[in-house]
Amino acid sequence: MIKPKRKNYAALLIDLDGTLLNIDLEKFVLSYVDALSDRFTGLVEKQNFILHLFTATARMVDNNDPCVSNKKVFYEEFCRLIGHSLKEIEPIIDNFYETDFPALSRWGSEQPAAKAVVETARSKKIPLVLATNPIFPATATLQRLAWGGLRAEDFDLITTMETMHFCKPNPQYYLEIADKIGYPPEECLMAGNDTLEDLVAAEVGMDTFLVEDFILHRQGTDYSYDYRGSLEDYLALLKALD
Ligand SMILES: [Mg+2]
Repeated sequence: MIKPKRKNYAALLIDLDGTLLNIDLEKFVLSYVDALSDRFTGLVEKQNFILHLFTATARMVDNNDPCVSNKKVFYEEFCRLIGHSLKEIEPIIDNFYETDFPALSRWGSEQPAAKAVVETARSKKIPLVLATNPIFPATATLQRLAWGGLRAEDFDLITTMETMHFCKPNPQYYLEIADKIGYPPEECLMAGNDTLEDLVAAEVGMDTFLVEDFILHRQGTDYSYDYRGSLEDYLALLKALD
């Protein structure tokens, strides 16, 4: 049984993929990129599309300008690279998320303890943030949340590319969340399965919980954590809070 370091936290931040949602990330990403690139047949050659998608994503992840949303950074770079305007490609992308993305649910499933985690945070009235890397549009995150059997209304904030200005593993991402919910980072607990993207929250003063069910080790990162265990262990910790 993990003993809480403190009696309570002002807010809880928790990751989605591999933490609240069981997902085969490798197969999901491969299928995602394949299906999305198919939508651009005739507009952009497939290999170039994939290259540009990853280049624009990297540009978004590296962005440090607090005035530009992740979405804007991504599409400015992506549209420039593929030589088509946002006006041209937006209907294609919107349609992809409506009709093709739902089929990717085959790579995701409910994480058994997830619902109890959300319910426990709710019953204790601790603000809950879905701190998933905001590289996706809201629809893609809300759909993945549903694959995990969870509901958007159970979260006080869900981070998406439209509303955020930084991505994991930029520590500014965590400061932006703290600012949005109005609590000092020192009073927040971030939980996730990634030894870099989630544990980096410690850099801005948050406590961290490494959820090890589907742990993602990043080489060369040695961020410390305050707690480590399964999602069940995390649930037990929440129950022990005031
Ligand atoms: Mg994760």
